[in-house]
Amino acid sequence: MAYPPGFVDEVRRSVDPLQIIGEVVEIKRRGSRWVGLCPFHNEKTPSFTVNEEGLWHCFGCTSGGDIFQFVMDQEGLEFPEAVCSLAERGGVPVPSEVGRSRQAGQSVVDKNRVITVLVAADEFYRDQLHGAEGARALEFLAKRGIEESVVLHFGLGFAPDEWEALQQHLVAAGFNEHELEAAGLVKRRETGKGTYDRLRDRIVFPIRDPRGRPVAFSGRSIGEGEPKYLNSPETITFTKSQTLYGLFEARESIISKGFVLLVEGNFDLIACAQYGLPNAVAPLGTAFTEDHARKLARFARKAVVEFDGDQAGQAAAERTVGILLGKGFQVNVVRLSPEHDPDSFLRAEGIEGFHAALSQSATGLDFMIQRAGERADLDTPRGKAEALSSLLEFVVPISNRVERAEWITRLAERLQVEPRLVEGAAADVQAKGRLRKNRVRPTAESSENQRSPASWKVELEKVTLAERELLRAVLEHPEWRGQLEEICPLDTIRDARVRALLEAAATCDADGVPVDTGNLLARVAQKGASALMSLVRLEEKGPLDWDSARNCALGIYDDSLRRRLREVSKDIQEALKVGDHELFGQLNKEKLTLAQRIDSSLL
Ligand SMILES: [Zn+2]
Repeated sequence: MAYPPGFVDEVRRSVDPLQIIGEVVEIKRRGSRWVGLCPFHNEKTPSFTVNEEGLWHCFGCTSGGDIFQFVMDQEGLEFPEAVCSLAERGGVPVPSEVGRSRQAGQSVVDKNRVITVLVAADEFYRDQLHGAEGARALEFLAKRGIEESVVLHFGLGFAPDEWEALQQHLVAAGFNEHELEAAGLVKRRETGKGTYDRLRDRIVFPIRDPRGRPVAFSGRSIGEGEPKYLNSPETITFTKSQTLYGLFEARESIISKGFVLLVEGNFDLIACAQYGLPNAVAPLGTAFTEDHARKLARFARKAVVEFDGDQAGQAAAERTVGILLGKGFQVNVVRLSPEHDPDSFLRAEGIEGFHAALSQSATGLDFMIQRAGERADLDTPRGKAEALSSLLEFVVPISNRVERAEWITRLAERLQVEPRLVEGAAADVQAKGRLRKNRVRPTAESSENQRSPASWKVELEKVTLAERELLRAVLEHPEWRGQLEEICPLDTIRDARVRALLEAAATCDADGVPVDTGNLLARVAQKGASALMSLVRLEEKGPLDWDSARNCALGIYDDSLRRRLREVSKDIQEALKVGDHELFGQLNKEKLTLAQRIDSSLL
């Protein structure tokens, strides 16, 4: 872990978890806990529970953890980012070696200040839209059938057709040129002296972070200005490859509808919302990335892709579908005729037209096969081979073996090729991929982070009841830990998270700090440890007595002996097969000892 445990714990104690969770979930006190509707799945009766330590657990979808995990899941952040975000809120300075590196002598505008500038700019643009200057822009929106409520929902604004309108307004409000530049709002003149407004004579779409704060702007020209869309440059608050336009506004609808609608442009997205499809998002002037898919996976595992009907749009759709399938999404593709984009299609055909197109939409794989068929003649062996190699490019990276095998079977069926030929070709592609060296393959760690609540459930169910109870015993009665460990030493515990948490308890003792949630989690890098901890702490169970704690420890020890016995028996078979008599003798001895121990532990 990149942070010293003391720092992580200081950040944890600097914030009020109930307040942070309360900003997102309406929580009501119930006894010693608070309950509310889970923000991670769609539910009508509250099963999301928080305790006074700031541990939370949803008994509906079994997501859970501490306040860092909550911020990670809610805002789509990795652990270090969540620590920084909470440090910011708690007013804890981030140690310089983990924070952004600073170049000596260069003054750095801090992220909070940049956001303050962006909030002021957001207000300015909105005022302009509803002022005298904005009449043309409002007319433009009205012509496209966008109603006032949608304009307000997305907080649309207008950048007047002037070179320094925004700049002068913000400088008068007390910001300096340097801050405006850091926020990406102005551009330096070529002479090097002075700056000018980046967005002019454009409808402005604010791009928001998971907390709803503006982090960048996108401008759609309403006059002659080129290009049609102009986005903020990348800044301390804005990374294009990780940001999706409309995700903040669409998040709840994505969860309640169970799928996300991916479109290409800001106007498409606004039109979708206008026509009753509020679950749409769009990438911003960049291709859809794996990071985008990872962000979406926290809210839904189903995606409908509806890109422009022209060649460029369809090619972009193909890349996007490939990424989504690789990340385990269930995908459907609505294909528009070449003259349409989602905005013009909705205006021409209405929402009924969309639903009709959706009901006839191709699955992701069928779309990929259609596209391959448009490039090559699938009736010829050569065409099949070409299609196969382009399709395998996205099938091979699928990490789940069962899923991959299924794709291969389906590919073979659709292309009418022998399955084993497809398997062979897949192995070739894979071998080539390995030579190209681990390019963008996600690491085991990042794929762990993107787990959806459903797979957390599977993960949590792998922990045996005895191991959970043992953990609970140590949390509720730290004084029992020594005795319990004598009965079942750490290496007899199968679950890595339980083991890591118990190891951390020993470190807490050694460091002379109390064995509590904060101190434990600050010492455990094991993924999912906080989810497990929250489950153990929030499960409704009666008090644990020494006898049942001891029985759990005995059970764990007994299990470990039986596991080892099974391994040894298997090895004995192997040793017999290869005729290794020495090994056979050793193993047989171990087997006897194990059997004796199991018998005596039953007494
Ligand atoms: Zn839930």
